[in-house]
Amino acid sequence: MALIETESLVLKCYSLAEADKIVVLFTQDHGIVRAVAKGAKRLKSKFGSGLEPFSVVRITYFEKEVVELVSVQKIELLRSYFAAASDPEFLNKFSYLADLLAALLPPHDPNETIYRMVKACLNTAEADGSGLTAIGVYFELWLLRLNGLLPDWSRCSDCRREFRESDVADVTANFHLLCSNCRRAASGRPIDERHRAIYAAVLRLSPDQFAGIHGNDRSHLIELSNVLKRIISQAIGREIAGERSFSTFNAR
Ligand SMILES: [Zn+2]
Repeated sequence: MALIETESLVLKCYSLAEADKIVVLFTQDHGIVRAVAKGAKRLKSKFGSGLEPFSVVRITYFEKEVVELVSVQKIELLRSYFAAASDPEFLNKFSYLADLLAALLPPHDPNETIYRMVKACLNTAEADGSGLTAIGVYFELWLLRLNGLLPDWSRCSDCRREFRESDVADVTANFHLLCSNCRRAASGRPIDERHRAIYAAVLRLSPDQFAGIHGNDRSHLIELSNVLKRIISQAIGREIAGERSFSTFNAR
């Protein structure tokens, strides 16, 4: 049995038994960890408000080799997003993004880059709630990229020609892009220069820079996000619940 201490983000928390809670953590040193917090439902729990979603905490837990659930010993709150999370849109967006993390990342597999990216996204969204749509796209795109799931959108997947600004491309069934010469029939999901500019900017900029430049282009952000959601759904083998606008891209 090992006693482990690490910084962590609380992704979600739900009731287990009469007095206990299960908490899903994204730890800095050990990746996704599911933990039991004994007595957390009691009024005077020793965990206090450290189990609120999106809190940054220093957590100490016991890990047994044969049991997947670890057991929380101590939680120290380092940073809370209580105020930001009182906005339902913030709560909805980050609950969905937390689900993506829990679904896409293998348990007990640390990923420092994604950990820092998530914290930067939380800070940007807290500072300016109007950038939530941009933050969602930023998060989805990087999560795919860092899992090796992001297709290369700089060139046509068939003739390999690099796209020029004026090109309108079509998304294939496996989410690559085809130029207008190579496509056999329009897919109804055109990807234009602004979608591609957003895609490139995410990979180049910090979340606050990105939200500052592209945050107002809601229609392109939502259209791009819908393609990214489909890639994610295919990767995890089911539709990710938690956001309402899955089908707007098809319905255009
Ligand atoms: Zn082509």
